[in-house]
This record gives sequence, structure tokens and C-alpha cells, in this order.
Amino acid sequence: MKIKADYANAPQWKELTIKSRLPEQLKCLDELAHNMWWAWNYEACNLWKSLDEELYEQVGHNPVMLLERLSYERKETIVKNKTIMKKVKDVYAMFRTYMDVKPNYKRPSVAYFCMEYGLNQVLKIYSGGLGMLAGDYLKEASDSNVDMCAVGFLYRYGYFKQSLSIDGQQIANYEAQNFNSLPIERQLDENGNPIVIDVPYMNYQVHAYVWRVNVGRIKLYLLDTDNEMNSEFDKPITHSLYGGDWENRLKQEILLGIGGILMLKKLGIQKQIYHCNEGHAALCNLQRLCDYVDDGLTFNQAMELVRASSLYTVHTPVPAGHDYFDEALFGKYMGGYPEKLSISWDEFIGMGRENPDDHNEKFCLSTFACNTCQEVNGVSKLHGWVSQKMFAPIWKGYYPEENHVGYVTNGVHLPTWTATEWRKLYAQYFDTSFMSDQSNETIWHAIYNVPDNEIWDTRMALKKKLVNYIREKFTQTWLKNQGDPSRVVSLLERINPNALMIGFCRRFATYKRAHLLFTDLERLSRIVNNPERPVLFFFSGKAHPADGAGQGLIQKIFEISQRPEFLGKIIFLEDYDMQLARRLVSGVDIWMNTPTRPLEASGTSGEKAEMNGVVNLSVLDGWWVEGYRKDAGWALPQERTYSNQGYQDQLDAATIYGLLENDIIPLYYGKNKKGYSEGWIKVIKNSIATIAPHYTMKRQLDDYYDKFYIKEAKRFVKLAADDNRLAKDIALWKETVAERWDAIHVVSKEDCCLAEGGETGVTYTIKYVIDEQGLNDAIGLELIVLKNDQSGDDHELYTACPFRKVAQDGNLYTFEADIEPDDAGAFKYCVRMFPKNEALPHRQDFCYVKWLD
Ligand SMILES: *Cc1c(COP(=O)(O)O)cnc(C)c1O
Repeated sequence: MKIKADYANAPQWKELTIKSRLPEQLKCLDELAHNMWWAWNYEACNLWKSLDEELYEQVGHNPVMLLERLSYERKETIVKNKTIMKKVKDVYAMFRTYMDVKPNYKRPSVAYFCMEYGLNQVLKIYSGGLGMLAGDYLKEASDSNVDMCAVGFLYRYGYFKQSLSIDGQQIANYEAQNFNSLPIERQLDENGNPIVIDVPYMNYQVHAYVWRVNVGRIKLYLLDTDNEMNSEFDKPITHSLYGGDWENRLKQEILLGIGGILMLKKLGIQKQIYHCNEGHAALCNLQRLCDYVDDGLTFNQAMELVRASSLYTVHTPVPAGHDYFDEALFGKYMGGYPEKLSISWDEFIGMGRENPDDHNEKFCLSTFACNTCQEVNGVSKLHGWVSQKMFAPIWKGYYPEENHVGYVTNGVHLPTWTATEWRKLYAQYFDTSFMSDQSNETIWHAIYNVPDNEIWDTRMALKKKLVNYIREKFTQTWLKNQGDPSRVVSLLERINPNALMIGFCRRFATYKRAHLLFTDLERLSRIVNNPERPVLFFFSGKAHPADGAGQGLIQKIFEISQRPEFLGKIIFLEDYDMQLARRLVSGVDIWMNTPTRPLEASGTSGEKAEMNGVVNLSVLDGWWVEGYRKDAGWALPQERTYSNQGYQDQLDAATIYGLLENDIIPLYYGKNKKGYSEGWIKVIKNSIATIAPHYTMKRQLDDYYDKFYIKEAKRFVKLAADDNRLAKDIALWKETVAERWDAIHVVSKEDCCLAEGGETGVTYTIKYVIDEQGLNDAIGLELIVLKNDQSGDDHELYTACPFRKVAQDGNLYTFEADIEPDDAGAFKYCVRMFPKNEALPHRQDFCYVKWLD
């Protein structure tokens, strides 16, 4: 036998984690580090910092990594340091007091589903506003001590870190997260083995690990497919947030919805309400349908129960923002489901179409969500209305203002977004019940008792903190990326903390119009370069890697910021994340937002600013339509003047310049002898007293319970009682009505009084006799009147006048309505017939409509 030149097999590496051992006295820190509670308690953050300030910076404020890397000597010193040990004891005691409060089961329990969660910058499972909102929601759920759990993904790469090339091009860096160094824990079974969820995909399974984030008292479960049990094709399902192609997106949505429910089942968790935060999670209702059918219910019965216990929150104001899958791709993965549900493929895919029989229409997750969730809501009053219109085509036969799509305006988690300086000030001046009664405006009115100079000093301290933060964080980045060191040094020197500072920081999507300020560069240069009244603008935000136009905007702003006249006056800050956002929303004087109306569904960063005495200057869009109060901020007019977007942009830009030149800058610099502007402080106080109380996450959470969860949970109990008696009755009733629907007809009518026209002040009675085909009083009629819209041939709903049942003779029901016109004008009318059932919350639940001749 010839001896081979080389003979070795490949090593089978096995994972080995060595934990840094903590001395007995510091053991409690491990528990503390693994609960995100620290993220909204500044005493805890202070504690981490005092363990090793330099290291704390190095590990990016991640306490798990901090503990892991603390040197042996340092631990010894800490244990001997009485001051630090007292802090350890105090903070841990606070934590235990918080955690030991017994769960409150008074309000319904909720399972919350979302693609992203912004809890803290160390856990990169968020990209922007949607994640921030979900993260804030869980924190408030914990503070409010409600029974909630949440489902999401643990992303290996998360969203990208942003840097800019020397000419301002966005570079997206995806960094792998090391899960063992994150404030999360693996979910284990009773034998201490990792729990694995097997999720069906076509004819095979994808296997997901489960990780748990302790968000105070709330548990967030994260699915993770990046493991050896899966093929190279499936590992990347949880690699990146909003990355990959449509196929990967569909695989993600299967994992989130279907996998999410399978996971909750495996963990033995059952909740009363299932909340899909954005359409991504809507397939959770598909799995729930399957489970009920498995339990022996029919599809229609299962649908009653699933609908009754679910809520869909939409965050997107335009149809293009939703996820659509073409039939071939959707069929590839979902082909097996119709059989499980005993319905046809067309019936199945039809649940995701506005026109179920249109084979060219793609499957839309949002439409599926609308069809399987009892309640649907937008995220501000204006966005609620926009969503009503957007989804109106799903419920044919009804006008947009008639459907049930509602709204809850977004809020922000007060302790997360309020700077420590303000929290201490509020604690000193506000009633002690403040934190548990945040929506109570009268408590906030105590801000008027705070001496003006204290407000001003707080503001100045936070402005300085922001400038210091920028000098510390960005010097190295800019020296590395911007070439010419002398220019970078000059830029840093020019940042003037006494200037009026304005922030524009958010995702760079073109509708947010970050370019607006740069419409007239000469005018802008005069504004920022006035030596007596300098103004400084900060821009920050990421553009989606596939959004060329958004990246172009960043590049343009960066280029302008490098011009000599704007150096140190217009500053772009790379890699907008939660940490930078916290500094900015508390550090600038004005928070500016200029979206194209009505595309900002809500927006939340301006709400964060409110808690910090930072005043908004914004288009009346999203939350600001509701939030704006006179003398408490500034608003760009609501009405659109031009249909041409270019003209509208120019007009809006001129309005902003005018507001700055004539109102904002003079007010800010109108300082008294003591060195501060009383007028400015008045605006700050007004905004804190009258706006801030209405945009906390506490108010948002309470709204979800009051408007949706409680009502749904109550009704669900009725439906499910006595072996789902009512659910079965309703399903049977709907089936019967549906079968006879086409046969139900008008036997006779008397409406000629209207056909000949009418006069105001006269009462006209119209009468219909309907053959209900053996149904027992299951039909309602109403007269729908449309008014000619001034603008043209459009008609708006003028009135819906119900008929009353006046007689019954066998199958024949007689209905009458009295019409008494108040207004003269040109109208159109028609009689609408619909199935009538008190047990249904909305007509859209059973959207059969017949317009009668
Ligand atoms: C609050 C926040 C957002 C959302 O801000 P909008 O005003 O809704 O655009 C996005 N990113 C970060 C890091 C935030 O803190």
C-alpha cells in the first residue's frame, strides 16, 4: 500500500461556551443583565457604567458582554468597593421589587406578533419605526403589568450598520451577532435541551431554535433558523431584516405566523387575543384556522373563532408598501393548506385578494389579514381614514367611511425616551402618581411651576451632552472616511452648542422629503451663517439598501454639508440607531419633519422630542395633525396647494424658511438679561403640558385594550362557550343566508315619490316587500343617498337611512323608510340590502350586499 501524501479527515467542531465566572456577591448581575429592564432604568445603566466605564463604552453598552469581559482583578476590586456594592444591592433590589409584583390578569391576555423589535441598540433586531413601536409596546406592557407575550425573530445580521464613503455613498455593513453575548436566553425544555420548533414548508420542515428576551415581566420569543439542522437554503430565513428576495420574505412570513403559533403551542402558551403588528405576521391566523379544523370544526366555524380573537394593525399608507406574492410562488409553499382546511385552492388564495376570483391578482398578506381579523386599525387618526380608503375595495358594497377600520395613534415609552435630566425634573415637580397616570394632563401641568431658568439649564445641559457625544463618537469615523483631516478638525470646532439646533433624523425614504430644506441654498446659507443668531442642522438616517433614490438624498445632503459655507452648520451623522436617536431627540431644540401628506402613517420620533422639551416643526401629517397646539410648536399648512409635487415642495420650503426667519429664530434668540428666552420656554412648557401627555406608550396600550382587546375578548368568550355553540350558530346562519342570497328578491315596492324628485321639508315614505326565502327576519334594508361632489362626477355618501320592518306575512317582509330631505341639490339614491345579525360586530364580517332595483 502506498502511503498517501496526506491523509486527514475534517474535524467535527463542537460548540463550547466558557462563561466568565462571577464572584458570589456579583451573581445577581447576571440575572440583571439578562433582563432588558436595565434599558429603561437609568440607575441600572449607571451601575453598568460604574463597573468599568472604559469597557462599558468598548462593548457598546452591552451589559452581558461587559460581565463576560470584566477582568478578574476588576471583579476583585468591585467586590471590595463599598460604593459600587451598595449600588449593586440597591439596583438589584429595585429590579426584584419590580419583578415580584404579581401578574395582573384583569385585562385580556395578548400574543403580539411583529417582524422587528427595537428594545435597545445592543439587540439588532430592528430597523426603524415599526420595530421601535413594538419594542416600546412590550416595555409598557411590562410596566402596566398586563398578560402579554410576543413573537419575533433573532436575526443573525439584523439590519445594516451605515457608513458613508468619501463622496457620501451609503455603505451597508452587515455584522453577525454572537448570540451568546446578547441579553437573551435560549429557551430550554424540561430536560435542559434547546427547544426546537418544526415548521412545515412544502414537503419538508424547517427547524427553529427559540430564544427568549426578558423584557421586564414580559417574554419575547425569537425564532432562529441559522443552525445545522437546516439546509443552506433555509438557514438564511432569519439572517436579515427586510433582506433577500420575495421567496425569502414568504419563508420569513411563514416562519413568523405559522412557526410562531406552533412555538406558542409547544411552549404551552395560549392567549385570548392575537395581534398582528403589520401584515407580515398574518399567517398566524392560517395556523390557527388549521388548529381549529384539526379539532373538528368546519372551516366556517373556525373562521368565526379566529376572526373574533384577532387584530391587525396596519402601518403602511400606500398599497405598494404591502407584501404581495404571485400565485406560483405562493402555491409552491402553501399548496397543501386548502386540503387541511377542506376548501379549494381558489377559495384559499382568494382570502388574499381584493377580487377573490381574479386569477391575475397576487396574494396580499394585508388583505388576508383584513379577511381573517375582526378588527383592523391604522396608527393615527388621519392614517385610520387613509387605511379605511385603502382597504375599502375588500368590502364591496360599502363606502370607505362605512367600514370598521379604526385607529390608535402611536405613542412612545416615556422612560426609554425621556433623558435622565428630565425624568429627575419630572420626579421632583410632578405628582408621585405620574408614572402610573401618564395620560393625565393635569399632572403634566405642574411643568408651569418649574422656574424658567431650570428649564433652560436642562436644555443647555442636554445640548452640550449631544455635542460632546458627537465629538467623541464621530471624530474617528470622520477622520477615517472624510479624507482631509484639517477640514474634519475645523468641522468639529465649529459645532456650536449655543446655536439653535434643529434635527431631521429618520429613515431616508423620499416621501419624507429630507431635501426640502435645500431648495434655496443661498437663503439657507444666510440663515445658518448669521453670526448673532447661528443655526445648526443635524441630519441622520439610513436608506433601504434597495432604495437608490433614498441613498441619493443622503449623498446630496452629505455633499452640501461639505461645502465651506455649510461646514459645521449642516451635519450628517452616520448610523442612526437607538442610542444616537436618544441623544438627538433630547439634544436639539427643534425636531423637524416634512413628509408628503398623508404618507407619514404616524411618526414617533417627534413624540420622543416632546418628552424632552424639544419642540416640533412639522407638516400636519401623522400624529402631528392631532398633536399640534398653537404656541406649543409649529405646523406647515395642511391643505395641498399644488397637485404638482415640485411646486408643492417649493412652496413648503419657502414656508419653512419663512417660519425660521420670522418666528422661530427671533423667538429663540429673544433672550432676557438672565440669558434665556422666556418666549421659548413658554413654548416648551406648553408643549410638555398639553402635547406630551397624549403620546405616551401608556396611552397607546390603554387605547388598544379599550378600543379592541377587551371587546373582542368578551365576545370570544360568548362564541366559545358551550363547545363553541354561538360560533357554530353564526357559521350555520351565514351558510344558510349565503345559500339563499341570490333567491331573496323584491316582491313589490312603492318609491315613485322619489323618482319624481322631492322638496325639502316634506316627508316621503317608501316601501319594499321582500321575499326572505324562509329566513327568519335576516335581512336589513337602507336607502343610500349620494351627493354630487362639487369637484366633479365623484359622489360622496350623504346619508344612509334605515328601513323599519312594518309587517310580516309568511316569507314576505314589508319594510318602510321615511325620507325628509333637509338640503336641496342633486343626489343619487339606491336601496341596499344586507344580512342582519346582532351577533356580528361589523357588517364587513359578512359582506353580502345586494343593491335593489
Ligand atoms: C423613533 C425612531 C424611529 C422612528 O422615527 P419616525 O419619526 O417614526 O420616523 C426610527 N429609528 C430610530 C432609531 C428611532 O429611535
